[in-house]
Amino acid sequence: METEVQEKIWLSSPHMGSSEQMYVRQAFDSNWIAPLGPNVTGFEKDIEDYIGDEVHATCLSSGTGAIHLALELLKVGLGDEVLCQSFTFAASANPITYLGAKPVFIDSEQETWNISPELLETAIMDRINLGKKPKAIIAVHLYGMPYKVDEITAISRKYDIPVIEDSAEALGSVYEGVRCGSFGDISILSFNGNKIITTSGGGALLSKDKLITDKAVFLATQARDNAPHYQHSHIGYNYRMSNVLAGIGRGQMEVLPERVRARRNNFLFYKENLSSISGLSFLEDSKGSFSNRWLTCVLTSSYETRERIRIALDNENIESRPLWKPMHMQPVFKGAVNYTNGVSEDLFNRGLCLPSGSNLEQEDLERICNIIKTNFND
Ligand SMILES: *Cc1c(COP(=O)(O)O)cnc(C)c1O
Repeated sequence: METEVQEKIWLSSPHMGSSEQMYVRQAFDSNWIAPLGPNVTGFEKDIEDYIGDEVHATCLSSGTGAIHLALELLKVGLGDEVLCQSFTFAASANPITYLGAKPVFIDSEQETWNISPELLETAIMDRINLGKKPKAIIAVHLYGMPYKVDEITAISRKYDIPVIEDSAEALGSVYEGVRCGSFGDISILSFNGNKIITTSGGGALLSKDKLITDKAVFLATQARDNAPHYQHSHIGYNYRMSNVLAGIGRGQMEVLPERVRARRNNFLFYKENLSSISGLSFLEDSKGSFSNRWLTCVLTSSYETRERIRIALDNENIESRPLWKPMHMQPVFKGAVNYTNGVSEDLFNRGLCLPSGSNLEQEDLERICNIIKTNFND
């Protein structure tokens, strides 16, 4: 009998390249341990060059902080309403409440699992009729799959409501030849430990408007006025990225294309090995979209099957996770206005995120597939 516990397989774990320690050492050698410094500037330039499309970047301490600043820069305040994709991680929505504003949650469409353009427009017309024109739209490229950029941007322009593009999970994804991170009036990235690249913790705020990213720097560094003494005429935050962590980011940017390739190969492996199971399906790339496949997600036939697979994997020391629980179903957002169609609730009930790290071995993937195959049939 084999009783030995197999090494844990994580959903998505950090995967360092070969240059991170060199950049971190440079920070130590030059005593740039403070926030700001050459690594921050270098990392920002790397991000700008990678995303292209004349985007400017400001590195921050987290993606959540970036969304907070984005909302503030769009002048969201007490009592305002912000439209937010319901099917997402709570960090997309939490900052709305930091400003005393109210989230209005919008359900998803089937094709990309992201914010439904139809429901978004219904909600906007409804809120305007009620005399509460929303101040912003938060759209998310969930699991790396681009949302319907053309449709959402058109609605944003039609009603003159700016978009915050939550690209926390989509660095490396592309929509019609243009990289995610360049589609919002303001866009955000995350470099948290489980994302496609990581600085252990960190984020960025992006915009084509340099006034916006400069203002983000100002707010993120305690909103100091231009004076020799410390003078303040705004409330500020301490949200800037540390120069040590930005060194990790510079190293990670060198391997980002490899990381995207590895995650996409995971997806292809799962698809090849599992798509013969009837009742199991994958989220396919939609027209014009290239997903970084941050996480590979499968839809099973029922909640019971999903749970059986998840528990079987867990028993073998393999981490998997149900898809995000929609915000309109979260206890903390009970009572929030929502426009729903049942799509995200169904995805939550039947869907599972499979281990998707760029550091998975072929034999890990084989093991996972075998467990899924033996536990699927009901
Ligand atoms: C990770 C994540 C965030 C928050 O980023 P942090 O850097 O962890 O604060 C926001 N939105 C989505 C969709 C995320 O996955």
